[in-house]
Amino acid sequence: MRDVDYIIVGLGLAGIAFCEQLENAHKEFLVFDSGVDGASRVAAGLYNPVILKRYTLPWKATEQLDIAVPYFKKIEKKIQAQCMQELPVQKVFSSIEDQNNWFAASDKPELERFIATELIPDSNQYIEAPYAYGKVLETGRIDIKLLQQKYQAYLESKNAFAKAEFEHSAIEFTSNGVVYKEVRAKRIVFAEGYGVKKNPYFKQLPLVGNKGEYIIIKAKDLKLTAAIKTSFFVVPLGGDLYKVGATFNWKDKDTEPSKEAREELIEKLASLVSCEYEIVDQEVGIRPTVGDRRALLGIHPEYSELVVFNGLGTRGIMMSAMLAMHLFDHLENGKDLFKEVNISRFGKRKSD
Ligand SMILES: Cc1cc2nc3c(=O)[nH]c(=O)nc-3n(C[C@H](O)[C@H](O)[C@H](O)COP(=O)(O)OP(=O)(O)OC[C@H]3O[C@@H](n4cnc5c(N)ncnc54)[C@H](O)[C@@H]3O)c2cc1C
Repeated sequence: MRDVDYIIVGLGLAGIAFCEQLENAHKEFLVFDSGVDGASRVAAGLYNPVILKRYTLPWKATEQLDIAVPYFKKIEKKIQAQCMQELPVQKVFSSIEDQNNWFAASDKPELERFIATELIPDSNQYIEAPYAYGKVLETGRIDIKLLQQKYQAYLESKNAFAKAEFEHSAIEFTSNGVVYKEVRAKRIVFAEGYGVKKNPYFKQLPLVGNKGEYIIIKAKDLKLTAAIKTSFFVVPLGGDLYKVGATFNWKDKDTEPSKEAREELIEKLASLVSCEYEIVDQEVGIRPTVGDRRALLGIHPEYSELVVFNGLGTRGIMMSAMLAMHLFDHLENGKDLFKEVNISRFGKRKSD
C-alpha cells in the first residue's frame, strides 16, 4: 500500500496547476490520467486578457494574468521545455463604430493596460481588414500539448503519474481518508474536464460542455506573426501552419471531427483570407463550460475527501494557476472559496 496526501484525477491544465500547488507545499501525490480526449490537448493555447466581442475584462482577469505568466515561466524551467511564446493578438475591426468602441474601452482604467491605442494598418495583401487592427497587450501562447507531455514525463520520473482510467467505483472510504486500489490518500481532487460527466460524485454539477473544432491549414503565403481575431481566430503555429477556429457547439458532445464545423470554418476563412491553403488536420475538444461562465471548485457535500476542480471553460490558461492556488488555500488553510466559483452556489446535490 502506498500513502499519499492527494490523488489527482486528470492532467489537463487544472490537474497540472494543482500538482504545482502540492509540490510547492511538499505534499505527496499521485496523478491518474487516461490520456484520452481532454480539452487541453486541442486548445490553441492563447492567453489574452480582453473579451474581444465586448472589449471588457473577464472575472479577475488582471489577477489571473499576473499569476499565470510567472507560473508558466517557472514550470518551463522545471520541465526544461519552452512552452510559452509571446504572441501578439490583433482584433480585426469590423467597422468604424467597432474602432470607436475599442478607443472608448482603452480609456477605462481597468483596460488601458491591455489595449494599444495605435491602430495597426492592413498591410497583408491576403487579409481583408479595411478598418485596420487593434492590438491587445500582454498576450501569448502556451503549447499545451508539449506542456502536458513534458509535465507527465517529469511526474513519471518522480513516480507520481499513472497512465490509467480512474475507476470511481473502486474508491473505498476509511476513517481517515480513502483507499483506491493500492493507494491510500487523504483526498482526491477530480480535475477531469468534461470527463466529470462519468464521475458519480460530481456529475450532477451543471457543467454543460461545449464542443470546439479547429481546422489546421498550411498557407505558405500568409506569413502571419500575430494571432488575428474576427469572429474566430487564426493562430500561427510556425512552419506555415495555422489553427483556424474554433467553433462553439452546445449540442454535440462527441469528439468526432464534423463536416459542419469544417464547412463553417472554410466559409468564415474565405471572408478573411484570400491566399491558397490546404487543410492538413481537424481537431476537436469539449470545453468544460458552466452556464454562469464560472469555474467549479469545492468539497463534496457528503464526502469531504472528494474535491472538484473544473469548469475552466474557454480560458483555462489564464484561470488555472490562480484557481489552483485558491483551492489549495481552501483545502489546507481553511480559507473561504470565492462565492462565484464555489460549487455550493448550486445548492446541495446528492451523489448516486
Ligand atoms: C477547441 C478549443 C479551443 C480552446 N482554446 C483555448 C485557448 O486558446 N486558450 C485557453 O485558455 N483555453 C482554451 N480552451 C479551453 C481550455 O482548453 C480548457 O479550459 C482547459 O483545457 C480545461 O482544462 P482541464 O484540465 O479542466 O480539462 P481537460 O484538459 O479536459 O483535462 C482533463 C483530463 O482528465 C482526464 N480524465 C478525465 N476523466 C478521467 C478518468 N476517469 N480517469 C483518468 N483520466 C481522466 C482526461 O484524459 C484529460 O486529460 C479551448 C478549448 C477547446 C475545446
